[in-house]
Amino acid sequence: MFCTNCGAQIQGQFCPLCGTPAGNLAPNADTPVPPPVASPLFWSILCTICFCFPVGIVSIVYAAKVNSLAAVGAYQQAKEAADKAKMWAWLAFGVSMIINLLYIAINVMG
Ligand SMILES: [Zn+2]
Repeated sequence: MFCTNCGAQIQGQFCPLCGTPAGNLAPNADTPVPPPVASPLFWSILCTICFCFPVGIVSIVYAAKVNSLAAVGAYQQAKEAADKAKMWAWLAFGVSMIINLLYIAINVMG
């Protein structure tokens, strides 16, 4: 990076020529950046295709919200959307298991 005061290249914390703190060059550098929220979109789509379509769609809708919410800095809402997406993905899995078991039971009973 370069000093905004004199234009010299800064390697450390201060400009070697004029002493301007390097921190002044990037005021946003000190702002803590929240960790990115992992979107379970992959699992949502997988559950939708493999298991239960109508329930999986809800999961995809929530998973799709995660990235857009995280992009505007709404990390709490992004995390909640991610949690809901995971919940619906598991629900899709559970519903399909029940349907499969019922299907097998009906076939076994003839
Ligand atoms: Zn300088």
